[in-house]
Amino acid sequence: MPDASHEIAPVAMFDAARPWQFHVELTDKCNAGCPMCPRTDHMNGCVADRSKVFNVELTLEDFRRSFDDETCARTSDVILSGAYGDPIAASQCLEIVEHLTARGVRVAMSTNGGLRRPDWWRRLGEAFRASGSRLELHVDGLREVNALYRVNTRFERIMANAEAFLATGAEAEWHFILFRHNEHQLAEARALADRMGFRAFVAIDSIRFSKSPSFDYVLPTGERRTLEPPTLRVDETLGPGKADREDANAVAPPRIGGVSCKSAAVNRAYVSAHGIVSACCWMTGSDEEAALNASAGVDPDERHDLHKRPLAEILADEPFASIYAERWGACALETCLRKCAEDRRNIRHRVERG
Ligand code: SF4
Ligand code: SF4
Repeated sequence: MPDASHEIAPVAMFDAARPWQFHVELTDKCNAGCPMCPRTDHMNGCVADRSKVFNVELTLEDFRRSFDDETCARTSDVILSGAYGDPIAASQCLEIVEHLTARGVRVAMSTNGGLRRPDWWRRLGEAFRASGSRLELHVDGLREVNALYRVNTRFERIMANAEAFLATGAEAEWHFILFRHNEHQLAEARALADRMGFRAFVAIDSIRFSKSPSFDYVLPTGERRTLEPPTLRVDETLGPGKADREDANAVAPPRIGGVSCKSAAVNRAYVSAHGIVSACCWMTGSDEEAALNASAGVDPDERHDLHKRPLAEILADEPFASIYAERWGACALETCLRKCAEDRRNIRHRVERG
């Protein structure tokens, strides 16, 4: 049972009266081996870490059942990205996007862009354009430099895919994680993004170096390399930008114990590639969320699996219904304090197309 020593009225994380959003990890598969990604065995040629990656994916049938017409009518946005995989590596990614967008759901997809052929991307662009959806293409450098972080991707192929997508008139943003090894290409990449028709260019100053000033890894060739944080000031290269894109559906959630929950602000739950619903991408699979489930007597493999229950029932369940808010009041969730009280997240510098 939850700790009853804190006199806080129950505050639900998800609100059935507002449009829902979902952050969905379609798969834990990926073509790339980014050294700092949790799926990557970075000292072993950047292969997939089989203790974390199980090659699972959600299917079109899962979406037909869980995102039926009624659920889609209550859903404004679905973000397709994830902790362990790239959405376009899911076998039925395109069909899933078409299922959602045909029912009025906007999609935002985050990808390295290295898989599939231009014809596939053209069809994706049509679905995106018709629904006001948005692509975030993650390319961290030009030509051979991109693959120093996006290991195993090919720049020329990514650009061909991007051109096919952009030719449909669909909206795309170029996202660029800054490192010491690619910062000299920042202005050139932004100019190329403008010429190609990307709507915005987003430079990301990562918090990945917060624990150490450098990060060693080994490329598939066996070459040992070191990642280092950037040295330049982004605003001096790109000019003034915005911190992030504003979310039209966001409200100011109650601040409890210093925590202002990002999921509550936009009414957005996280769904893993296994189909398990969580509070957010930071809490999914964590010991902290496991402890909250245990305190509520909830087995997430039974009660929070979208293969087994409707999403509306899962979102109304504990620990989302009240236990999270109780723990914020007790300042008991270290991840929530770090991410949604102290705002320890990547810093984004966003410039719209010139
Ligand atoms: S592209 Fe994304 S999922 Fe794939 S290895 Fe890189 S960060 Fe991880
Ligand atoms: S880290 Fe905690 S407070 Fe932040 S979005 Fe996730 S559940 Fe909400």
